[in-house]
Amino acid sequence: MSHSNISIFIPHVGCPHMCAFCNQRTISGRQDIPRGADVGRICAQALSEVGDPGNTEIAFFGGSFTAIDKDYMLELLNAAKPFVGGEKFKGIRISTRPDCIDENILDTLQSFGVTAIELGAQSMCNHVLQANERGHTSQDVAAASSLIKSRGFELGLQMMVGLYKSTIEDEIKTWNEIAALGPDTVRIYPVVILEGTKLGQLYKSSEYKPFEFDSAVNLCADFLEDAKRRGIKVIKLGLHASEVVEGQALGGFYHPAFRELCEGRIYQKKIAALLGDGCRYGEISVPARNLSKAQGHKKCNIEYFRQKGTQLKIVPDAMQTESVKLIERR
Ligand code: SF4
Repeated sequence: MSHSNISIFIPHVGCPHMCAFCNQRTISGRQDIPRGADVGRICAQALSEVGDPGNTEIAFFGGSFTAIDKDYMLELLNAAKPFVGGEKFKGIRISTRPDCIDENILDTLQSFGVTAIELGAQSMCNHVLQANERGHTSQDVAAASSLIKSRGFELGLQMMVGLYKSTIEDEIKTWNEIAALGPDTVRIYPVVILEGTKLGQLYKSSEYKPFEFDSAVNLCADFLEDAKRRGIKVIKLGLHASEVVEGQALGGFYHPAFRELCEGRIYQKKIAALLGDGCRYGEISVPARNLSKAQGHKKCNIEYFRQKGTQLKIVPDAMQTESVKLIERR
């Protein structure tokens, strides 16, 4: 049975920093701040509707949960707690900043049934964190991660790809260090530059020039593949359309099917390795359920190889493994 969340959005209240990419300043005041009574009502309704509460978590997302006013945080947790455990929901997820975690906070979270903590790491390069005004270091990410794991919480790490001053090498270093921290889950967000942010200003003045879109797809495809090898679940790759504040995206790496692009790129690389150079015709088999992934978004892989002079045929294989097999090459 697949996992699901009852998502409750906590806007930027009390966040101690204003990161260069964050648009919360422009949208603050236009969003309702949920009170404990709202949380109770949402949870009660969800409990009556969700088919598998044992696989469902109450998720406080947005902002920095452990940086909000303590009374307000306790109000929200108090309201959620009665809906956790037994026949009810599996637990509570929260997202926060790495410098807003310590033993006392973890004691509080544990006592209310919080089971998973997601940290916005964003980069593991201090010059990138500084340039994007994150207000914490990569050492904070490492320290908070090990504390969270040592206390038995599920650890989630979020990274952003293509931030101001970040190079391809910085992205690879960030991924390797994030993966080495042993998270259970990761969210990978290719940067979307929003109006009303410091990044937006830097972009408009041409001081910030993100690398090519294709490079972002390549990197994220590699990270997705590596995560699978390491047993790390990628619960998000790219923003959903609804998360891009309408009309506020100036540039960056938004695509409505970003994950699909990356899955297609993984297949493109595997197929290229099997066909090698100088191939005019290649026939490949892939598991039937992965046929469209192998063809790529809007069959872009077929077109990619056609432009390289290769007529590519991809056929379904009845086997349900991940393997890609070469059937014919000439
Ligand atoms: S920590 Fe999160 S909520 Fe706070 S400014 Fe940065 S991105 Fe926005």
